[in-house]
Amino acid sequence: MSEATPIFGRVALIGIGLIGSSLARRIKRDKLAGHVAASARTQQSLDTAKRLGFVDSASLDAREAVRDADLVVICSPVGTYAEIGAAIKPILKKGAILSDVGSVKEAVVRDLGPHVPDGIHFIPAHPVAGTEHSGPEAGFPELFEERWCILTPPPGTDTAAVDKLAELWRRCGSNVEIMEARHHDQVMAMTSHLPHLIAYTIVSTATDLERSLRNEVVKFSAGGFRDFTRIAASDPTMWRDIFLNNKEAVLEVLQRFNEDLTALQRAIRWGEGDVLFDKFTRTREIRRGVIDAKQA
Ligand code: NAP
Repeated sequence: MSEATPIFGRVALIGIGLIGSSLARRIKRDKLAGHVAASARTQQSLDTAKRLGFVDSASLDAREAVRDADLVVICSPVGTYAEIGAAIKPILKKGAILSDVGSVKEAVVRDLGPHVPDGIHFIPAHPVAGTEHSGPEAGFPELFEERWCILTPPPGTDTAAVDKLAELWRRCGSNVEIMEARHHDQVMAMTSHLPHLIAYTIVSTATDLERSLRNEVVKFSAGGFRDFTRIAASDPTMWRDIFLNNKEAVLEVLQRFNEDLTALQRAIRWGEGDVLFDKFTRTREIRRGVIDAKQA
């Protein structure tokens, strides 16, 4: 397919916050679909989307957006999927692809899977890209550039449909990887969910300090705290849903993290400088790897 050819006729996006509106902007900018239909929870977001011009039609009723769509992408918090799935189920067009952008994948198969009628290609996806901002004004078309998009098609999914969805994400600038939903959740528990949990914890520990100390924390935040506040500013609804829906994998990495933290605590207590130095030297190499992989 040439770079100028639209991949889909009509695309429906349910949710047009940071991720949905970035996808819509990219699809519109590069003419990847003939029509972008949107739905959201509030009229205000739909009005914003229309004003900014990244959707062709908008409706509070998800079924209106989904009608006749060749691709439906759910871009709302994961906790809303079961309800949305039940609502759009009778409207989905035969042969359409049903996908999403949720940060967890096993729960998506669990919640959305039962609502997928025969003849619909169900391909969960997760673009590993984001910022701490939310809402339709926060999106931008380059968000997915040089980032990974992970597809987790259930066994037996039509390969032509998977290729078509992969093509969309590639033309959004992403690299595409295919993996099992369970494996995805284990990897994300380490690379995304645990770091967010740690950031939320550090910032809330600081919030509980007595006022005078708390003011100093903000004043001298460039010492490291500042970077955690950026992550801990991420959307509370979205992150609540992620932790509730990737419980097992998060608790597993949290257990390991606690053990490693205890080992460091011990090294500090006993003045074991070599232990600390070796650990910090190894972690520096990981940072170099991240930069080399262009993910910094
Ligand atoms: P967001 O900016 O808060 O946007 C969420 C969107 O979902 C809004 O348009 C909201 O409508 C809509 N929505 C909420 N409940 C709904 C419902 N019941 N029916 C229809 N629409 C509903 O969130 P986001 O950051 O784009 O995240 C969306 C999804 O992407 C989540 O599943 C998240 O796990 C995943 N994700 C996020 C990131 C990230 O870094 N943010 C990265 C990768 C994947 P209103 O605007 O009207 O409230």
